[in-house]
Amino acid sequence: MKKASIISVGNELLAGLTVNTNVGYLSRKLLSMGIPTSSCYTVGDRIDSIVQILSQAAQQADIIIITGGLGPTDDDLTRQALARFMQVELEFSEELLAQISEFFSKRGLKMSANNKVQAYIPAGAEAIVNNVGTAPGIMAERDGKIFVCLPGVPAEMKQMFAESVAGKLKQVGGGQVVLTRKLNCFGTGESVIAEKLGDLMRRDRNPLINCTVSGGVITLYIVATAENKDVAEEMVEKDLHLLREILGDLAYGADEQTLAEVVGAKLRSHRKSLAVAESCTGGLIGKLLTDVPGSSEYFTCGWVTYSNEAKVSELGVDRILIDKCGAVSEEVARAMAEGARVRAEADFAIGVTGIAGPGGGTDEKPVGLVYIAVAGAGRLDVEHHIFSHSRGHIRYRTALAALNMLRLRL
Ligand code: ATP
Ligand code: MG
Repeated sequence: MKKASIISVGNELLAGLTVNTNVGYLSRKLLSMGIPTSSCYTVGDRIDSIVQILSQAAQQADIIIITGGLGPTDDDLTRQALARFMQVELEFSEELLAQISEFFSKRGLKMSANNKVQAYIPAGAEAIVNNVGTAPGIMAERDGKIFVCLPGVPAEMKQMFAESVAGKLKQVGGGQVVLTRKLNCFGTGESVIAEKLGDLMRRDRNPLINCTVSGGVITLYIVATAENKDVAEEMVEKDLHLLREILGDLAYGADEQTLAEVVGAKLRSHRKSLAVAESCTGGLIGKLLTDVPGSSEYFTCGWVTYSNEAKVSELGVDRILIDKCGAVSEEVARAMAEGARVRAEADFAIGVTGIAGPGGGTDEKPVGLVYIAVAGAGRLDVEHHIFSHSRGHIRYRTALAALNMLRLRL
């Protein structure tokens, strides 16, 4: 299997002043062409560093793509580094110089003398035309490995990759296909999922199963490598099925499906309506639900009842209950959900109350404590959680946990 390595050149990347978007773009493109990326490097504007990384990358990969450092200034050193690595001289090309000066003259500009260095490329290498900037790219072969140098400017890099590089690399890839699908899970930690999957997460398995976590959502990536698309699709489908079987209710959807979409689809298919009464989430649950097109079919209304008064007047929560149990309590969450359900005349309602922080916590009721109630179908369930991290994170986790609770109820 052919593999790629991506090298990003630039001090601004090392300093964190520019976010390295090129590497994500290129690895996605390469993967869609059946060429997985096995390593990525970021290196400063220094010839010796670039040469060293080039030799390292060449030991690991068949295709090495370098972005950045092709400009006309003294800190643009990629072409020199490639020539030194290939142990060849830089050669001047009249044709390249003509292209660069045409770029300027077409725009009514005068080319400065230092742009001339961009007309040099390592002996034996090929230039890649740049129609949107001055820096030509470079394509070279050495010991059966392909080296591609592209400008750092994302727009130039993308256009040149699409126009002049992708076609050539597709041939090198030999028609192999790498297909990725996602299975989204909620309601447990990644270690529990890993335990359930056991041997399926073996690193030498095909499809390879990778796992990431964000906001409590655990995403399993199923990556199949095969000789053609049909075989890859069959492999991934089989694994999706297998994982769903093993994980049961923990898996809620595939690919880009969100919890709110899944909850919405269930409400729609059962012809049920939903209202929400939110305190600490401040409307986030309603926002997530109404992000889904067509949610008016099942979402009736939402309250953000932040103060005790609003909980009483808007939802009919008993003031004595709030005084006795506190606004953040199981009892109030229940009363909020039931109040919302009755007042909205909805089939189901969610009630949420909690302490999002950073202040306001006590030993008894710490920051991150939330109560989530779901009312409907003759039941009134309540859960509590203690989430951690930032205010934003606690609110987001709470909203997802509420949606998940309703999903499981449906
Ligand atoms: P070129 O090869 O086109 O001359 P360069 O790296 O030599 O690129 P720079 O001036 O260093 O030229 O970078 C051009 C612009 O592209 C800068 O705004 C830089 O931050 C951005 N850039 C460089 N590399 C990347 C990258 N990997 N991801 C996103 N932006 C990048
Ligand atoms: Mg640079």
